[in-house]
Amino acid sequence: MIHMKDVMKVYENGAVALNNVNVDIRKGEFVFLVGPSGAGKSTFIKMLFREVLPTSGILTVNGRDVIRMANRDVPYLRRSLGVIFQDYRLLPDKTVYENIAFAMQVIEAPRRMMQRSVNSVLDIVGLRDKYKCFPNQLSGGEQQRVAIARAIVNNPAIVIADEPTGNLDPDTSWGIMDIFQRINAAGTTIVMATHDKTIVDAMQRRVIAIEDGTIVRDEAQGGYGYEN
Ligand code: ADP
Ligand code: ADP
Repeated sequence: MIHMKDVMKVYENGAVALNNVNVDIRKGEFVFLVGPSGAGKSTFIKMLFREVLPTSGILTVNGRDVIRMANRDVPYLRRSLGVIFQDYRLLPDKTVYENIAFAMQVIEAPRRMMQRSVNSVLDIVGLRDKYKCFPNQLSGGEQQRVAIARAIVNNPAIVIADEPTGNLDPDTSWGIMDIFQRINAAGTTIVMATHDKTIVDAMQRRVIAIEDGTIVRDEAQGGYGYEN
């Protein structure tokens, strides 16, 4: 699913965000990306959907060569991924339904199929009765569930999440993790950057720790490994 070989990212100002990173992530894995602030986690995540272009190395995602890919092929890469951010990033003037449907309109899905898919992902995240709400009428946890619904509506092979529980209280965070576990159990690969020690320690999934742009630990079933 994801193959990185000797991946390096040096930003324009000379900051080395990733230094010779080697990682393989297979279909169906659930991977936590941990490490101190500034370690390179966001850079790692952003490279996967080509928001950031590696400076050197090899990066393939879903069988696509992310580095040599033509700009016109980037939308196809992104459509095969579901991306979730700490700050939800919903469209404020669209309803829950429209926020999710919008992701499908982009791929010109027929209307019937679109309704069925949107209702189905609303069921998965438990928000069927809120479909007419606007984002500012929802709690943070509900907004994040809408963002997850939007991320999975096109059946992505990989869900990528950058600190998805970073703004949420512990109970709400576990609601989000329950959804991720179900999505993962259905076969979707999940890569999630997080500072949430409780969640990582409890779930005992694969943990990749990055410090100063280098992978310092990669365990099949690990804990958070930092005090916090
Ligand atoms: P993390 O997500 O683990 O906090 P980042 O990937 O955001 O780490 O950052 C890794 C390093 O790259 C840091 O030193 C950071 O300052 C630097 N960095 C991140 N984004 C940029 C950028 N757009 N321009 C220059 N340096 C950056
Ligand atoms: P009700 O008010 O009984 O829920 P609606 O006609 O508003 O009936 O909604 C019926 C179905 O259409 C719902 O399942 C909903 O998910 C879906 N729906 C809601 N908004 C839209 C929209 N903007 N475009 C297409 N379908 C929608």
